[in-house]
Amino acid sequence: MAKIRIGWFTFTCCEDSTIVFTELLNKHYKEWFEKFEFVHARILQKDDSKEIQQMDFAFVEGAISSDAQETKLKKIREMSTTLVAIGACAVTGAPSNQRNFFNEMQKKEIRDVLDKFKYKDKVMKLSEVVKVDIAVPGCPMNEQIFLELIKKVINNTTQSS
Ligand code: SF4
Repeated sequence: MAKIRIGWFTFTCCEDSTIVFTELLNKHYKEWFEKFEFVHARILQKDDSKEIQQMDFAFVEGAISSDAQETKLKKIREMSTTLVAIGACAVTGAPSNQRNFFNEMQKKEIRDVLDKFKYKDKVMKLSEVVKVDIAVPGCPMNEQIFLELIKKVINNTTQSS
């Protein structure tokens, strides 16, 4: 049986859902590595600089804060059958989007940083850029909802093969 092709991506955020995910691997890695091929997952790979590959599921953590991130997210969407927003920053934009609510004086103070790193004026949730199929809320992501989703992915694929 072909393995389910998975990608795990991180944009602007604190990466806590990635930490939760790696902690879950302590318990689930045998089962998951049998079922999944991790096509992209910087946390598991020495070099994740290759072109975005075709995936069955792309799990995306973090908010979008630059043009380069927006382009990469669109590519991930194009290359994935199902795109899952992971955690509050990806689902709602917050709390990574705090600067969206700065007053004029605060915005002026950060202008140089935005220009230097080519950041957008506004930080966006994923659904402002691409279609999101499934959302796993929580800050960090809700472990139970994530595990239920993974269980469904495995069961659906096992039944349909
Ligand atoms: S949702 Fe919370 S835990 Fe996840 S990246 Fe954003 S701030 Fe960090």
